[in-house]
Amino acid sequence: MATGGGWAPARSVERHGAPPPRGGGGGGTRSKSVAPGPRRPSPSPARSRPAPDNGGSSDSCRVRVSVRLRPKNSEDLAHGSDFDSCVELQPESKRLKLKKNNWSCESYKFDEVFSENASQKRVYEVVAKPVVESVLEGYNGTVMAYGQTGTGKTYTVGQLGKDDPSERGIMVRALEHILSSMSFETDRVAISYLQLYLESVQDLLAPEKTNIPIVEDAKTGDVSLPGAAVVEIKDLEHVFHLLQIGEANRHAANTKMNTESSRSHAILIIHLQRSSRIKEENSSLSNDTHNIFPDDLPLVLKSKLLIVDLAGSERIDKSGSEGHMIEEAKFINLSLTSLGKCINALAENSPHIPTRDSKLTRILRDSFGGTSRTSLVVTIGPSSRHYSETSSTIMFGQRAMKVVNTIKLKEEADYEILYKKMEREVDQLTSEMERQQKLIKSEKMQLDKKFKESERSFHDLRMTSNIRIENLEKEKCQLESTVKTLMRDLEEEKGQKNLLSEQIAELEKLLNKNKQQQLENLSRTKILTDTTKEHEKEMEELLRQLQEERHCSSSLKDRMSVLQQELCDAQSSAQESMARELEKKLTKVTEELTSQVQSLKEKISGLISEKEVIYEELKSTQEKVQQEMWQRQGLEDQIRRLERSTSDNYAEESKTSYGMVRSGSGLGNAAFVSKSGKIREALSGQRGTISKIFEEVGLPNVLALLKSEDLDVQIHAVKVVANLAAEDINQERIVEEGGLDALLSVLETSENTTIHRVTAGAVANLAMNGSNQGVIMNKGGARLLANVSSKTEDPQTLRMVAGAIANLCGNEKLHLMLKQDGGIKALLGMVRSGHADVIAQIARGIANFAKCESRVISQGHRKGRSLLIEDGVLTWMVANSTRFSASTRRHIELAFCHLAQNEDNTCDIIASGGIKELLRISRESPRDDTRNLAKKALDSNPAFLREIQ
Ligand code: ADP
Ligand code: MG
Repeated sequence: MATGGGWAPARSVERHGAPPPRGGGGGGTRSKSVAPGPRRPSPSPARSRPAPDNGGSSDSCRVRVSVRLRPKNSEDLAHGSDFDSCVELQPESKRLKLKKNNWSCESYKFDEVFSENASQKRVYEVVAKPVVESVLEGYNGTVMAYGQTGTGKTYTVGQLGKDDPSERGIMVRALEHILSSMSFETDRVAISYLQLYLESVQDLLAPEKTNIPIVEDAKTGDVSLPGAAVVEIKDLEHVFHLLQIGEANRHAANTKMNTESSRSHAILIIHLQRSSRIKEENSSLSNDTHNIFPDDLPLVLKSKLLIVDLAGSERIDKSGSEGHMIEEAKFINLSLTSLGKCINALAENSPHIPTRDSKLTRILRDSFGGTSRTSLVVTIGPSSRHYSETSSTIMFGQRAMKVVNTIKLKEEADYEILYKKMEREVDQLTSEMERQQKLIKSEKMQLDKKFKESERSFHDLRMTSNIRIENLEKEKCQLESTVKTLMRDLEEEKGQKNLLSEQIAELEKLLNKNKQQQLENLSRTKILTDTTKEHEKEMEELLRQLQEERHCSSSLKDRMSVLQQELCDAQSSAQESMARELEKKLTKVTEELTSQVQSLKEKISGLISEKEVIYEELKSTQEKVQQEMWQRQGLEDQIRRLERSTSDNYAEESKTSYGMVRSGSGLGNAAFVSKSGKIREALSGQRGTISKIFEEVGLPNVLALLKSEDLDVQIHAVKVVANLAAEDINQERIVEEGGLDALLSVLETSENTTIHRVTAGAVANLAMNGSNQGVIMNKGGARLLANVSSKTEDPQTLRMVAGAIANLCGNEKLHLMLKQDGGIKALLGMVRSGHADVIAQIARGIANFAKCESRVISQGHRKGRSLLIEDGVLTWMVANSTRFSASTRRHIELAFCHLAQNEDNTCDIIASGGIKELLRISRESPRDDTRNLAKKALDSNPAFLREIQ
């Protein structure tokens, strides 16, 4: 059996929060109650908090008071029908009527009114259960029975009911309730059982302990009896055992009224300790507290439940006790009297509460006006013989109902657990610290080593970098001087370039002037030519006249000879007169003629001299023109030279700027790049100007230059014409102005590859125009092109020639002539070049030809097999259809399909093995229309179908 304080050392901590709502003993009057004012110093531990009122109502802290009426006992029953009851209960309104006599009656309201039939269970549930639940949650509680001896206080509070559970009183039921609600792992419950008799506290569990002192904590106001035994409870059996011991030890003073009644106060103190964690309600902690306690501080809720079975409340003289000293009798009543006084003072809100007057009031200090939840049951008997005691009991109860407590939760840090935990942590930290220290020491040593190494390498690095910096400085100086010289060179080149530009401008000006003069000369030449032509015409006329005159004169001469003959004849026939006449006539005619001939001769000689003059003029003009041409050629040469030198300059400059970029100095790159860009622009501008010059000279003049003796000029002229011919609008005009003739004659006469290439290009361009194609053919263009193609191996020239012929292939009217002039043969012959571009043009030409031919045949304008077959085109197509690029293949495939549309080609296609090709095209050609065309040809030709099978 443990004695003394018996609980782990604890320090109070205050916690504020909502306590659980209490059921209370039912409705009843609810007086407004906040914790009363500064009645007496609140026993405020560091961590305690007031419980807010029940669900907003504020009477939860008021002392709750119930009345219990004892059933009539044997003594009452002995009076039989004469029994007079002074009490009438109205449980439905929780009222009690007390009859003084037949005409005086008082009514009192209580929190609950129990009739004589009320069960122990109901009394427990109404009076004690709410208090016990509150205690389980950490609040202090008090349940107390007050009443006259023999009215059932002990029955209500202390009845054991070991055999009959329905008889069990509040003490047993409360402990039973606590044992079933707590956890034996974390919680503990213990009891002290004391008796207060004659102002002396005795331990009912350790009867040898008498006069146990009551101790009050000066700080918290907590009352304790450290001398009393505190016995931890394990189960209900243990409870019964302890209470029986207590009962046996209880001093009972036998009185006359009830031999079982006691004059002593029995006090059962139930100590409950439940574990709790502060974490859940962290937010409610004050900052200070939070600093002191760790987050997961182990906390305990410590609460106390006092169950008090008071001594009888009747006056001492009436009890009839005998054998007591008067002093004793005085002490017997002292505690109860003090309790009454205290309750009166509390009920009246008196500033002074005489708590210290008795031991009972000291022990119950927390129960009335303190922090405890308190429930009082007052017991009364029904007999009117005890009216006065019953009345005073009821008045006590009524006053007690006015007492309001401020209940507070008490939590304490569980330092035992905390200490163990801390100790463990300290141990861990200590060993960890030792480990860390060792680690730090070794790391420090390593770092020291590394530091020394770094210092050494840093020193080395500084040395080498100093040397490198010096070298770099030197390099920088060198680079700077190089940049300076480059800049100077550039400036000079820029000057030169400007000079050249100026020269070009001047030359252009000169050229313009020259051009004007030349134009003037040309117009003059034209006038002269016109005049010469007129003169020539006149001369021709005159010569014709002369001829006629001569003719006339010869006829006249003939006539004359005839006449002379006639005259002779006449003479001979002697017609002399007639002869004379005739002679006269003849002489006259002869004279006339002679004069006419004379005048004509004069005229002719005049005209001849005039003609000579004109010829001379013409000659001198031609010489002038020639001179100017030379001058112009000289100027053109100069321009070309200048162009070349400018482009050389450009190349030089671009090289320089590239060099600068590579040198990586990063100085002025952008400037150089932009300057070279400007030069490029200027050059293209100058070239543009040159071609513009040609344009301004006019097409006839340009065409005239095609015949220039100077190859360069001729090449330039051909280029210009080719360029002009590339534009649709110029194509017809060039032909009209004789450009085609000139080009064809150049193509025929020149031996120069460039001329051949460019001229063929120009012809190809002109051949794009449908109306030109016939003219080209008629002027023998196809023959010339075929001739050129046979003489050169230059792929570009061949490409141009093939392009030109390909264009002509697109005109079905010219097909026959093209074939006869050797165009098809030449086209196929160029395959030898093997150059993709050339072959692309050949394929295009073949496709053009086949397509147009197929159209003509389908329209019924022509019959017979394709003109292409004879020259071997079909054989070549079969052999090469899959060899070339996609576009070339497409052309070949297309040509194939068109050839296959013509029934007259069937035999050749089959013989050449083309049927396989056609099948392939119908399946594999990437183009839908080509595939369809191939299928159509296959399906519509029975010979093909036979061949496939
Ligand atoms: P007190 O402790 O107030 O002196 P007791 O509890 O000793 O009174 O009761 C006196 C007697 O009356 C006892 O024999 C008790 O059994 C009986 N008694 C008291 N109250 C009741 C009750 N409500 N029902 C039945 N018997 C009762
Ligand atoms: Mg009793």
